[in-house]
Amino acid sequence: MTIQAQIIELISRLKDDFNSAVILITHDLGVVADIADEIIVMYAGRVVEQAAKRELFYNPQMPYTWGLLGSIPRLDGPRPERLHSIKGAPPSLINAPAGCKFRPRCPHAFEKCSQEPRLENHVEAADHRDRCWLDTDYKRAYRDATISGGHTEAA
Ligand code: SF4
Repeated sequence: MTIQAQIIELISRLKDDFNSAVILITHDLGVVADIADEIIVMYAGRVVEQAAKRELFYNPQMPYTWGLLGSIPRLDGPRPERLHSIKGAPPSLINAPAGCKFRPRCPHAFEKCSQEPRLENHVEAADHRDRCWLDTDYKRAYRDATISGGHTEAA
């Protein structure tokens, strides 16, 4: 953790020194929460959600993002026996599933998911885009339960 903090600080300093942007590729949403301005979530080689940091953490729209958020250890709630994980494994990129690439692992998949959704804006924040067929009311109703590992049924 100490080395990680030193590397992040160095990246931050170089960014300022060279007045440049940084693209950081990581699975560690804790690091992302610390230093990112914009977040792009990718799955099976595709962008599945894109938003400003605060928007993505407080209003995530894509079930894969929910799974990533659910796998972060938290200090502000009851301690689960095990960390949540996303069931299954990433698909082969040579023989990717038809439709939404997250479909075989998604607890909310339904019939329409056999078609690939486009990356589109569905929420108030115009620069927040996601690739999912669920409507925003459904997402609002089931997102928190999914992030906390409570909802596993199909839509
Ligand atoms: S499009 Fe369907 S399978 Fe893909 S994330 Fe949304 S609900 Fe799940």
